[in-house]
Amino acid sequence: MTQDADRSVSVPRVFCIGRNYVEHAREMKSELPTAPVIFLKPASCLVPVGQAVHFPRHGRELHHEAELVVRIGRAGRDVPKSEALSLVDGVTLGLDLTMRDVQAELKQKGLPWEKAKAFDESAPIGAFTAYGPSLDLHDVVFTCRVNGEVRQEGRTRDMIFDVETLIAEVSGIWALRPGDLIYTGTPAGVGPLAVGDRVAVASEKLGGFSWEIVASG
Ligand code: MG
Repeated sequence: MTQDADRSVSVPRVFCIGRNYVEHAREMKSELPTAPVIFLKPASCLVPVGQAVHFPRHGRELHHEAELVVRIGRAGRDVPKSEALSLVDGVTLGLDLTMRDVQAELKQKGLPWEKAKAFDESAPIGAFTAYGPSLDLHDVVFTCRVNGEVRQEGRTRDMIFDVETLIAEVSGIWALRPGDLIYTGTPAGVGPLAVGDRVAVASEKLGGFSWEIVASG
């Protein structure tokens, strides 16, 4: 499979799925969802490999959430599950960086999550592997390491809602456009990052990507 990090198509939107792994929902003391939990980040949040992530100034607890990310290759609306994978043209790993202390406060007040989830540089993204049927999206194993230590180990077969279901659900609300990304949720083991840390996501099938956390500018 080829990697095409330099693909020049712009990203219209970044959809993110919350609470998509049982053990992560439990560690967050969240109820298990009966339908996918969907939120968005602006595409300006993306951080390609080779760039650093600046520790945000508006909170104290920056958490890593390693996730499988799929890229949509063609437009689609109300896409049935049976056709959903035909829209996918690329797959990679990324981080849904989260200010956990900010999120806790917003949750408590019943306020929207953008300040905790959609800040600048909150979406590091690896290089994409071209998607084809030989890549079983139900059988991707991936890890998140911080300074070499394994913090998260995910298996996409443990997703509550699989990629087909997520595409069907998202496309029922937003007409999907080429270049849209879907961050598909994180497994258990989320935890803090500090300035100077190197956070790395890796999968045998998709490769490995890492980012350094640096002091805010
Ligand atoms: Mg997440």
